[in-house]
Amino acid sequence: MNEAMGSGIKIFVNEDDAERAFQIIKGGDRSVHCPKCNSLNVKQTISKNWYQKAGVLLLALITANPIGDIRSSYSCNDCGKKFVI
Ligand SMILES: [Zn+2]
Repeated sequence: MNEAMGSGIKIFVNEDDAERAFQIIKGGDRSVHCPKCNSLNVKQTISKNWYQKAGVLLLALITANPIGDIRSSYSCNDCGKKFVI
């Protein structure tokens, strides 16, 4: 455990999420692009149901289950498209 912690942060994700996880590690939210106009000029928005998300997060922490229901909301600054990843 100490050895693992000393070598940096290790993140375990589902195989299907590996590509996205890698992108997040590489470039953060800058890699997110609009599904409508493909613009990279997007901003992350706080969803209206963040209370629900907080509940899911809390439940995940308590039960040690992977967090699957929390997704980030974004809006495009160019075309105004709102989307969830
Ligand atoms: Zn757009």
